Amino acid sequence: MRSVIIEKPETVTVRDLDAPRVTRADEVLVKVMASGICGTDVHIYHGEYLGSYPMTPGHEFSGVVVEVGEKVTRFAPGARVAVEPNISCDNCATCLSNRQNFCENWQAIGVTRPGAMAQYVLAPEKVAFDAGEVPFDRAAFMEPVSCVVHGIESVGIRLGDNVAVIGTGPIGMLLIRTARSWGASRFTVAELSDERLAAARRDGVAEATRDVASLPADRFDVVIDATGAPAMLLQAVRLARPGGRILMFGVSPKGKTASIEPFQVFRKGLSIFASYTSRRNSLQALSLIASERVRVDDLVSHRVSLSGFEKGIHAIEDRNANAMKVMIFPNDDAAG
Ligand SMILES: [Zn+2]
Ligand SMILES: [Zn+2]
Repeated sequence: MRSVIIEKPETVTVRDLDAPRVTRADEVLVKVMASGICGTDVHIYHGEYLGSYPMTPGHEFSGVVVEVGEKVTRFAPGARVAVEPNISCDNCATCLSNRQNFCENWQAIGVTRPGAMAQYVLAPEKVAFDAGEVPFDRAAFMEPVSCVVHGIESVGIRLGDNVAVIGTGPIGMLLIRTARSWGASRFTVAELSDERLAAARRDGVAEATRDVASLPADRFDVVIDATGAPAMLLQAVRLARPGGRILMFGVSPKGKTASIEPFQVFRKGLSIFASYTSRRNSLQALSLIASERVRVDDLVSHRVSLSGFEKGIHAIEDRNANAMKVMIFPNDDAAG
């Protein structure tokens, strides 16, 4: 099979490897039909995340089950599935207190195990979900949407909330749509790309600006940072109204610090939430996608084959490329 390999940071090859086979009774082998490039993959490409090299990325994906272990009960060959990358042990103290996203024996497909930027990938049955009739390129959004659902649940969106979102790439847009689905009624966004601002306006946001500093202080029930830029935390503290909530959603560069004015957090009685991956949110995510309560199909800007992986990373990093989600089709050479 063909597989993307990040040999070491910033060195990518596409190689022919032996396809994996099911060896464990609880595993399924999935023929990967759609695999999205995530901001986390950009960090992995640069050597700024977890895991070691060489490695095969790809943790947002869907496909067809082609082989099952003898103890697999929910799937047979031919089943269409979306796969959650995070594999918890379900037997450590953290898992047993329902915080599986911090499992002490955590593994993840496309981070610590071979990922889905390949024609085939192995996964335990427990992280595979029935995609029904959902098209593969939409089902591949199950993982990012599940993270967004976890974030929205963490910050506690309420009916009628007035929400500011900083950064409207694919994740910012998913946060807006999911918060709207939860009952938030008004959205303001700050984003540097004119193209993305226009897309946010088409999505019905009330106010869209390039300049986060121009937004009024003390106005928003909830402020969500989807950029991970450390300086945005100071802006979030300024924008939140007294009694407001802040959600740190974007991944900040490891080791970077931010300064805020603790007096403002105190005087306004702010609550600051962070959201790390997801926790049993895959079924909710698939349901939101299948019902189109959260629309995802219009977020795909590039559709390419495996050999386009590195170009896709560069497109995400190049503001002029206007990339949103870059979707890889490992078993479709007709893709660009
Ligand atoms: Zn991701
Ligand atoms: Zn565990």
